Amino acid sequence: MTDFPSPSDRPKSAKSTAFALFRPVLFAIGVIALALGGLVLTHRSNPEIAALEKQPPSSLPVPAPSSPPATIALADPEPAPPLTSADFRIAGFKGFQMKQPDPAADPEPPASDLYELTLRLERGDTVEKMLADIDVPEADRKQIAEKLQSLLKKKRLATGETIELMMQTMPEQPDAPRVLSLSVRPQPEREYIVSRKDDGSYDAEEKIYKVSPRIVRVEAERNGSLQQSGIKAGAPSAAMVEFIRAMSYDVDFQRELKEGQKFTVLLEQLVTSDGKVTHPGRLLAGELRLLKRTVTVIRFRPQGGADGFYNPQGESVVRSFLRTPMDASKLTSRFGMREHPILGFSALHAGVDFAAAPGTPILAAGVGKVAMAGPNGGYGLYVKLQHTQDVATAYAHMSRLGPGIKPGVSVRQGQVIGFVGSTGMSTGPHLHYEFHRGGKQVNPLTQKFAMRGAVSGKDLTRFQALTRQYLNQLKSAPAVADVNDKPPQKKTSQAPKEPATPQIAKGD
Ligand SMILES: [Zn+2]
Repeated sequence: MTDFPSPSDRPKSAKSTAFALFRPVLFAIGVIALALGGLVLTHRSNPEIAALEKQPPSSLPVPAPSSPPATIALADPEPAPPLTSADFRIAGFKGFQMKQPDPAADPEPPASDLYELTLRLERGDTVEKMLADIDVPEADRKQIAEKLQSLLKKKRLATGETIELMMQTMPEQPDAPRVLSLSVRPQPEREYIVSRKDDGSYDAEEKIYKVSPRIVRVEAERNGSLQQSGIKAGAPSAAMVEFIRAMSYDVDFQRELKEGQKFTVLLEQLVTSDGKVTHPGRLLAGELRLLKRTVTVIRFRPQGGADGFYNPQGESVVRSFLRTPMDASKLTSRFGMREHPILGFSALHAGVDFAAAPGTPILAAGVGKVAMAGPNGGYGLYVKLQHTQDVATAYAHMSRLGPGIKPGVSVRQGQVIGFVGSTGMSTGPHLHYEFHRGGKQVNPLTQKFAMRGAVSGKDLTRFQALTRQYLNQLKSAPAVADVNDKPPQKKTSQAPKEPATPQIAKGD
């Protein structure tokens, strides 16, 4: 937000941008003219030039007088028109009144040239108002706004939308800049362009870019949180959350995963024909290397079913119990409380502890009923869930209970039953988690949990083909860092070529 001028700041900002762009050019023109030996004016007739020679402004670059004009490069791609003597005779050109830099003074507009502006729609802003702010004449801006609206139809541009302008300042009307073209791209696949014709009227067109899927790979090392490591390497946050969730029925992230271990996610992006990514990537498959094994998940949609994740053998990753009763992406990576720090090593630790920030939601490990919810001695604030007659889970040291959690109510798997705290006998925020079988605590990490289903019947052939493809692509698909924001690579096979130019739908 603060990177952009507010609407009221805009005229000054636009002008000073233009001035900043041309100031070195104007200055260079002056220096060159001086070097050529008073083409138009003499030294003596202009005291400001004498002053300039004695005190060249230190903040401006001073090109050597012998530098050829060709070394003066504009920041924009339009080449500066070659200088002719006519440039020095134009009406209103007052000679070399180059001033010392003075931010308070309104600078002279550039003599005549093209420049680009990128402006952003602010809250309550309109394109017409924006153009008025940069002194575009009323007749022009009305036409432009109408043309643009005819393309947008009923749609409105969002606050924060970026508007690209190609502008020209005419020497005879330095205070009424022309808009040569205006373009806005509210969606990557759609660009609206209003451009000026030779007769001064405006034309509008809509460019539609073809969108197609592209499969890419993100390979990274775990460095801190798995989620952040993936995001840093170019995977979208949503895909990383999905990846971690798909893994979390099977993987104990705090014990099986160490720093520096590698993982790969396979993503399906949507990309326009000119290389803009319209969807950063849906998770297709993922592979996580653990200390003693590698876990792979494959996205698959059985016929008549919903998308789910499966292991390469076709078994659903969803189990009757969560391995970690917490969103694994929220676990803190450091773990230091395996042994009971208060009772010491001699006491039996009847559960496992998961380190997480205070307030992290605690999830019901499986479907069940709340058997206990409230303070429970050294356990602090405590919840016990009964899942079957035989199986129960317990959660201790909570800071508070989840919404609606009280004895007797039913819970779904993954429902929030409380929040991480440090109540009871605890040295710091963590979840103490117990798994009970037949009334006795057992190690939750060694339990085998029932699968929720597997690919079968007609789906199996399709699943196996897809799995082979994904396992290959996990190793060979282009890396996301190599392809993002680049046009699709030219195909070398006989595949039909995509049209180089986008389809254009003319507006009225
Ligand atoms: Zn514990």
